[in-house]
Amino acid sequence: MQVNQRKFDVVIVGAGGSGMRCALQLARDGLDVAVLSKVFPTRSHTVAAQGGISASLGNMSEDSWYWHMFDTVKGSDYLGDQDAIEFMCREAPSAVYELEHMGMPFDRNPDGTIYQRPFGGHTANLGEKPVQRACAAADRTGHALLHTLYQQNVAARTHFFVEWMALDLIRDAEGDVLGVVAMEMETGEVTILEAKATVLATGGAGRIFAASTNAYINTGDGLGMAARAGIPLQDMEFWQFHPTGVAGAGVLITEGVRGEGGILLNANGERFMERYAPTLKDLAPRDFVSRSMDQEIKEGRGCGPHKDHVLLKLDHLGAETIHKRLPSIAEIAQKFANVDCTKEPIPVVPTIHYQMGGIPANIHSQVLTVGADGGDQVVGGLYAIGECSCVSVHGANRLGTNSLLDLVVFGRAAGRHIASSDLLKRSHKPLPADAADLALARLARLDASKSGESIQDVANAIRTTMQTHCGVFRTSELLRAGVDAIAQIEQRVQHIHLKDKSTVFNTARVEALEVENLIETARATIISAEARQESRGAHSHRDHPDRDDVNWLKHSLWFSEDNRLAYRPVQMKPLSVDTFKPKARTF
Ligand SMILES: Cc1cc2nc3c(=O)[nH]c(=O)nc-3n(C[C@H](O)[C@H](O)[C@H](O)COP(=O)(O)OP(=O)(O)OC[C@H]3O[C@@H](n4cnc5c(N)ncnc54)[C@H](O)[C@@H]3O)c2cc1C
Repeated sequence: MQVNQRKFDVVIVGAGGSGMRCALQLARDGLDVAVLSKVFPTRSHTVAAQGGISASLGNMSEDSWYWHMFDTVKGSDYLGDQDAIEFMCREAPSAVYELEHMGMPFDRNPDGTIYQRPFGGHTANLGEKPVQRACAAADRTGHALLHTLYQQNVAARTHFFVEWMALDLIRDAEGDVLGVVAMEMETGEVTILEAKATVLATGGAGRIFAASTNAYINTGDGLGMAARAGIPLQDMEFWQFHPTGVAGAGVLITEGVRGEGGILLNANGERFMERYAPTLKDLAPRDFVSRSMDQEIKEGRGCGPHKDHVLLKLDHLGAETIHKRLPSIAEIAQKFANVDCTKEPIPVVPTIHYQMGGIPANIHSQVLTVGADGGDQVVGGLYAIGECSCVSVHGANRLGTNSLLDLVVFGRAAGRHIASSDLLKRSHKPLPADAADLALARLARLDASKSGESIQDVANAIRTTMQTHCGVFRTSELLRAGVDAIAQIEQRVQHIHLKDKSTVFNTARVEALEVENLIETARATIISAEARQESRGAHSHRDHPDRDDVNWLKHSLWFSEDNRLAYRPVQMKPLSVDTFKPKARTF
């Protein structure tokens, strides 16, 4: 097969909020930047973000970055790295004002300042009461953010490669990353994109589960690329269930609904969160609320004929507030649950939403692996940002609105680090002779297939296995059986049959390549989850119900080769303040 070749200073895989914030930093510095995306940039999943972006602006109630940091550390169940969390919370106001100055259309207070709403786990004065910290553009904050960044990038002359799928990283014998091999979806042509710095910004992988709020493109491609290149994935056992996916549909109802005053009810009409979290109630962090809902359903207080969901009531907010602050929610409730939420409650269940784990990175977004001495080692030329990375600012459980913040803070940090590094002063390193071999071999195997497994069947098997064996509550038995089931499906992935061999816009080929990324992500998740014998944040283990800081206050690292696990310490020392020591989490 003929392979084309192009050269850039920097190649960024992913045009979501993180990729575009990074690209902007570099393009404005005059660098030659290529951004690849499987879809048109403004269709990246960031566009679906609803509720808001956190920053302690204090526009509507007293606030400080220190309180934001406390909430994030506590929300993470102490698995978050405190240096990275301090960095993010301190950078937040400037990152949000920067978006405002780019023209992002935030909602406004009467005095002209940015509107902020309460969100789960965000508090004033170290846990005393909810604080108003989520900067919002109605319930379309991600839409506003992504379009703003896209327009700025067009002005800055970033090169976009739209409907291009990156297949694999190019890594030389010294371990440095020299770019990616990618396929143009329109033609099926393969191109080597050489770069002095390569940035993975491929977003989440929620599509390894059957019920997910994530877009169909969220298949963990960056995770698969890293895993195949011998780079570990960190903390993959921690997956966030969002409390309020529309029952049966999975579409998200933002936590902003509860931020605006919406409440959860069980079959008896009881506001059950008052029992589980007396102070924050419906605005406790997501792991907490999801488990409480699951408990209500398990104990027979679920709603509907199958008693399998609870209700989210918001009609008491009044139609005017709903249409002003939550217009998309009214639309989603009507379309996906057939309810008029200004009059009736919305049926909701905990639904997979966000991966806390990902490609390990430091606060400059440089990717880390394990060095010969067992300590951290930077992978030369490679960065990871956004949901596919694990810095780790979210630890075992992310607070709502902290992801959009993570995108812009670490997208900017990566851009600054690349621009100031000596990488760019050097010329491109010579490509190894086998630069494209891994990607070409994957393509060749599909093209040679004459019979075998259907792509859809294998993808569905991954999804139902993960849903059954790695849900809100986990047990040793379920996890062990899950490890075996995923190992068997891994064999089936090797035998996928691509029926349609055509090259022009062949979506079946794209899906087959995506399944190879889903399986890496699923393996990382189930192996890391099976090993972790404690309950922390979103990893809730029935046979090990307590958090175990003596043995498990550490990050998991999974390597694809032989499913090897390693661990690295949590950074408990912040940059300038005292450590927040682990405590029992009550809300
Ligand atoms: C419904 C929903 C609502 C949310 N609401 C909020 C909220 O209110 N506040 C908040 O903080 N967080 C929210 N989140 C989480 C947050 O939106 C995401 O974590 C974040 O947007 C991810 O951004 P990203 O830049 O990492 O990636 P994405 O926006 O997911 O973009 C990934 C990019 O990578 C590209 N890509 C992937 N694979 C390849 C490949 N192989 N080749 C080329 N390109 C590739 C895609 O085309 C895309 O451009 C929400 C998430 C969902 C699903």
